[in-house]
Amino acid sequence: MKDVKNMAGVTDTVEFDIKPEEEIKSETETKPKAAIDAPDSGSYDAIIIGGGPAGTTGGVYLARKMINTLLISPDLGGQVLRTSEVENYPGFKTISGWELANEFKENLMQYRIHLRIGDRVVAVELSENGGIVQTEMGSEYSFKSLVVATGTRSRLLGVPGEKEFYGRGVTYCATCDGPLYKGEKVAVIGGGNSALTAANDLLSLGCTVQVINFLPEVQADAVLVEKSKSHGNITFHTNHQIEEIVGDMSVNGIIIHDRESGETAKLDVSGVFIEIGLIPNSTFAEGILELNDRKEIVVDCFCRTNIPGIFAAGDVTNVPNKQIIIAAGEGAKAALGINDYLLKKKL
Ligand SMILES: Cc1cc2nc3c(=O)[nH]c(=O)nc-3n(C[C@H](O)[C@H](O)[C@H](O)COP(=O)(O)OP(=O)(O)OC[C@H]3O[C@@H](n4cnc5c(N)ncnc54)[C@H](O)[C@@H]3O)c2cc1C
Repeated sequence: MKDVKNMAGVTDTVEFDIKPEEEIKSETETKPKAAIDAPDSGSYDAIIIGGGPAGTTGGVYLARKMINTLLISPDLGGQVLRTSEVENYPGFKTISGWELANEFKENLMQYRIHLRIGDRVVAVELSENGGIVQTEMGSEYSFKSLVVATGTRSRLLGVPGEKEFYGRGVTYCATCDGPLYKGEKVAVIGGGNSALTAANDLLSLGCTVQVINFLPEVQADAVLVEKSKSHGNITFHTNHQIEEIVGDMSVNGIIIHDRESGETAKLDVSGVFIEIGLIPNSTFAEGILELNDRKEIVVDCFCRTNIPGIFAAGDVTNVPNKQIIIAAGEGAKAALGINDYLLKKKL
């Protein structure tokens, strides 16, 4: 029971029908999962390619509109599965990436949607009022509308130690993993804006930062470079190449090679932040959808691509700031856009 003020400012007393916690818990646990595995072929009003925050959110919205939808993805969670802790997704003070991905999955699974998990789209062909997607495992599905939500992957350095120490000193996200290295000696690999943004984040965490840049000049905006230099705790190794990331249980150093003098040196660091760019997973869309020079799918503010009925959402698009909340929001927008499209086209 609670006192509330009504519109006229008079205090009313209302009774809430609050269920005992155990009752709510047992209802949630017994609620059947409505999502089902997709057959090997079929026709859908909407197909979502990708199971990250954008794709799963799009799936929830489309399923809630009772649109006959298929989601195809190797996984449910996307990059979130690779994130240790997430502290900037509303509703959770802190949550592990795995748990958040599971929340997305559970939310999706309660709706009637067909899922093709463990497979990936390798080709898209357009036809009148839709098209066909082909998957790596040889399935074909036709669609009236499509959401491309395939995200990005980090560009890899390709040096010994990179894969071996991934998650044990090697990371691709300073925003997420920086706090784990508070006050420590770290290396940032790269010289662009994301590298210098990472360096500045790490400096503000009290880290001593070594920036290793392949090119003779740092390419980042001057304002970022100046800001980093004002900290004093940063050293730039331009025209240097990483030869190896070394350590035992976790990273304890990097071997760098001076491209001018040919000299090699070991720098003692416990964290290596690789910031040499993201690659959008848009290869299958080349020649079909408009891509920008970074190979991101170009969308308008309704997530529409240059092809009517094909929408794109999340990190794979030209929408700036690659974050979970943004990808999820864009996924919702794309799904609502599809709903409008199908209604208007009477498809
Ligand atoms: C290590 C790390 C830590 C991060 N930490 C944070 C954080 O703390 N907070 C934050 O807000 N953001 C963080 N991010 C960024 C955030 O994870 C992304 O912005 C977000 O996941 C983007 O969602 P998305 O759905 O657009 O793409 P993704 O998450 O990349 O999902 C893309 C999906 O598409 C699938 N896919 C790819 N190709 C195909 C294909 N051909 N066919 C079918 N499916 C395909 C993938 O398997 C995946 O399921 C982090 C990123 C990384 C890498």
